Amino acid sequence: MKTIHATLIPGDGIGPEVIAATHRLLVAVGAPIEFEGCQAGASVFKQGIASGVTPETIASIKRTRLVLKGPLETPVGFGEKSANVTLRKLFETYANIRPVREFAGVATPYSGRGVDLVVVRENVEDLYAGIEHMQTPEVAQCLKIITRKGSEKAIRTAFELARAEGRKSVHCATKANIMKFTEGMFKRVFEEVSKEYPDIAAHHVIVDNCAHQLVKKPEQFEVIVTTNMNGDILSDLTSALVGGLGFAPSANVGDGIAIFEAVHGSAPKYAGKNVINPSAAILSGVMMLRYLGLEAEALKIENALRKTLEDGIAPRDVAGEIAGAATSDFTDAVIARLGQTPKNFPARPSRRVAMENVSARLRPTLPTETKVEGVDVFIRFDGKASDLGATLESLSEDCAVRLKMISNRGTKVYPGDTQADCVDHWRCRFINRNGHEIADRQLYELLRKITDAGLGWMHIEKLQYLDGKPGWTKAQGEE
Ligand code: NAP
Repeated sequence: MKTIHATLIPGDGIGPEVIAATHRLLVAVGAPIEFEGCQAGASVFKQGIASGVTPETIASIKRTRLVLKGPLETPVGFGEKSANVTLRKLFETYANIRPVREFAGVATPYSGRGVDLVVVRENVEDLYAGIEHMQTPEVAQCLKIITRKGSEKAIRTAFELARAEGRKSVHCATKANIMKFTEGMFKRVFEEVSKEYPDIAAHHVIVDNCAHQLVKKPEQFEVIVTTNMNGDILSDLTSALVGGLGFAPSANVGDGIAIFEAVHGSAPKYAGKNVINPSAAILSGVMMLRYLGLEAEALKIENALRKTLEDGIAPRDVAGEIAGAATSDFTDAVIARLGQTPKNFPARPSRRVAMENVSARLRPTLPTETKVEGVDVFIRFDGKASDLGATLESLSEDCAVRLKMISNRGTKVYPGDTQADCVDHWRCRFINRNGHEIADRQLYELLRKITDAGLGWMHIEKLQYLDGKPGWTKAQGEE
């Protein structure tokens, strides 16, 4: 069989131990993978490389487009961004696949119920786009970016995965009831894409209820697709349903690229002690084999791992300090069981997920007509809403736009009475005075008058109709 080249990043803390265990198993099943050892994480930050990833590592990933990695520490006090997030974004791994399936021998409150589900998390957008600004010393802001294309790529991954694994349903978990444009877009794209998969039942569930249902009756779920932040939280919850982070693998997938890693972090307090559970990393290696179409080898490792646990051999996080097997002994036990299958909850056979160069195929759907109706100007002001309102009304008297309302933290506070506990950051909504479209120079004029009045504006948002539909939401209490 042709040799496949892959990049191997041992990572920080317990990373080298879990990656060594995984590597031993890949060798033991004869996987035809040749690894290039590379560096990322704490040691790289210490060299003064702010991204936490060396140029050699980036070059290796560009060549191999296949990565097995250990957890990377995000140091506090040096380095700028998480090296994990850097890798996910740099290589546009748009979906994060996080499966959990009950293990015989790992007792949880759900044992015997057959929990077997996958969370597919959009992996690069949402609040994790990391676009944050201090608006005032008291007010911080983070932009939640959701795109049609990014949503579609994650959602298609979920449906293709459901097909590959012979699953019958996909749930989309959003907070579209509150965030109608961002989470709402994810829901709408889900509804569109689901029509192309008539063989799979598509359901929408509000994310808070999804968390509730996952704790109450997790067996009802097969695949859950969701936005980045929701997925981050839900997938830690789902890992606990089958035994915790020690058992939670993941795949970050993009166009012809994939990064496999355990969901857990570097757990520094256990580093070098040979006590941690390598199952999550081993199962990430299993996902890598499936991605490569090496299903027989994948089944062999997963079933041996499941048989080891069923036989009552487990690391410290399951069996406790005294009875827990050392990481290396547990790995030996799994290797000794290659070729064996557990009686209960054997591996679920799968096949390669069919997602080919989807980024190039998806084109943005641009609106044919946009019309600017007004503008929201965010102003820093220490004082009362009524004073700010009176000032803005008077200064905009001869402008093309008029002050419609002011809100504070999303609640309308002017005109009229308010019980809101206002802070020094006000969203001032100006709209069209005479029915004509607003030109940019008319907005500059308004901003000039606001500046001349000694008011500090932080940022502005145009209020636009896109193909006749308003592209903004109302404040709480706005008519
Ligand atoms: P963590 O490393 O996942 O550890 C949290 C706890 O989970 C551990 O104390 C331990 O629980 C348990 N645990 C994690 N992995 C385990 C394993 N393989 N076997 C047994 N138990 C395991 O999370 P953290 O302490 O919040 O983060 C530590 C560092 O990792 C941070 O620098 C963080 O940024 C980084 N991190 C990296 C990644 C990544 O590279 N993908 C992901 C998450 C976090 P008990 O204490 O109960 O035994």
